[in-house]
Amino acid sequence: MQELDTHTFRLAVAQFDQAAEFMKLDPNLRERLKLPQRSMMVSLPVLMDNGRVEVFTGYRVQHDSARGPCKGGIRYHHDVSLGEVAALAMWMTWKCALAGLPYGGAKGGIQVAPKKLSHAELQRLTRRYAAEIYPLIGPDKDVPAPDVGTDAQVMSWIMDTYSQQVGYAVPGVVTGKPLSLGGSLGREEATGRGVVYVTLEALRHLHLSIAQATVAIQGFGNVGSHTALLMQQQGARVIAVSDVSGGIYNVNGLDVPELIRRYRNKGQALRDTKLGDAITNDELLQLECTVLVPAALSEQITEKNAARLRCRILTEGANGPTTLDADRILEEKGVFIIPDILANSGGVIVSYFEWVQDLQRFFWSATDIQRRLQDIITSAFQRTLHVSTERRTSMRMAALMNGIDQVAQAHRQRGLYP
Ligand code: GLU
Repeated sequence: MQELDTHTFRLAVAQFDQAAEFMKLDPNLRERLKLPQRSMMVSLPVLMDNGRVEVFTGYRVQHDSARGPCKGGIRYHHDVSLGEVAALAMWMTWKCALAGLPYGGAKGGIQVAPKKLSHAELQRLTRRYAAEIYPLIGPDKDVPAPDVGTDAQVMSWIMDTYSQQVGYAVPGVVTGKPLSLGGSLGREEATGRGVVYVTLEALRHLHLSIAQATVAIQGFGNVGSHTALLMQQQGARVIAVSDVSGGIYNVNGLDVPELIRRYRNKGQALRDTKLGDAITNDELLQLECTVLVPAALSEQITEKNAARLRCRILTEGANGPTTLDADRILEEKGVFIIPDILANSGGVIVSYFEWVQDLQRFFWSATDIQRRLQDIITSAFQRTLHVSTERRTSMRMAALMNGIDQVAQAHRQRGLYP
């Protein structure tokens, strides 16, 4: 489909093709699963603070709903395109299936640089977007959540806009909400916590100790900052972090709580905190470390830099950070990869808990949430490791095959309509 043809979509399809080939997936299913079930493109006129009306472009793509309502975040980023959103939606399908959540995959996005908008403009844009995608979303249909560039405030506006349409409060229409609106304890740090749980499993598998582990993290948003904090709490040494503007490095370990305080509360750039030496994003990826966590955007590790990586474990906090060419190089180097659809699934797992709590109007404790998250993500890791060893394939192919197989079974059992 020409409209979807971007490099991120090509990456998602190439991964799928490789897994489908390996598992000898029924060709009749293959063609359908390469394409999204439904895609919506909307134009969003927004009254700017200066009195002018600016028109933004938004998307919501549902990749597959055979196993349940669609689920996936909404991304606000200036590079968002239909193809990128479709790729991310496809990855959500495999991610939910691999974790055993009763969802299909979806993703949404608006082509906008959210930091350039005022709070009021962001609210008007979000509400107009929610109103336009209203026919697609709902607790039984499609449940959005935060992603790059969106947060609990954006989710609150979507929840309110949807609730205004139906006439009563519907907390289950989105996840990642604040606690006051039916959010869940532990959702905010969930992706980072999941990244830590699977990394601990990998360290154990490789007989490495967490106390001796060094960690470098690309990206210091929700996923990167919580990963840094929780890794340090587990006893690892976080030696470098970065954001779009660059990063900092301290071989003795960064003071993560202080870094977060200055970065978030004081708005200081990472390098201006003086808590380490300034480095570039490229330098960060090439640092010698036990664990490298790309937690920013897709296609950061490519055939151009893969050979220079010096990590033992690559835990993919971001979606699609590694290209297939890079995979091959890393495999030859013996890097243990925890693929995105497994490594970053903590977010959607706790989103699932939030949705269940909203539907039941019965809320769980933080310990319940942590324990259940650890159970689900650890067993997904072990299942993936098992398939990877049994079938002599990479962790990525094992995770994809596992997810795709769940979806294929659902399609076979439901049959082809009409
Ligand atoms: N945006 C997150 C992801 O890519 C979370 C999705 C969700 O919670 O639905 O997995």
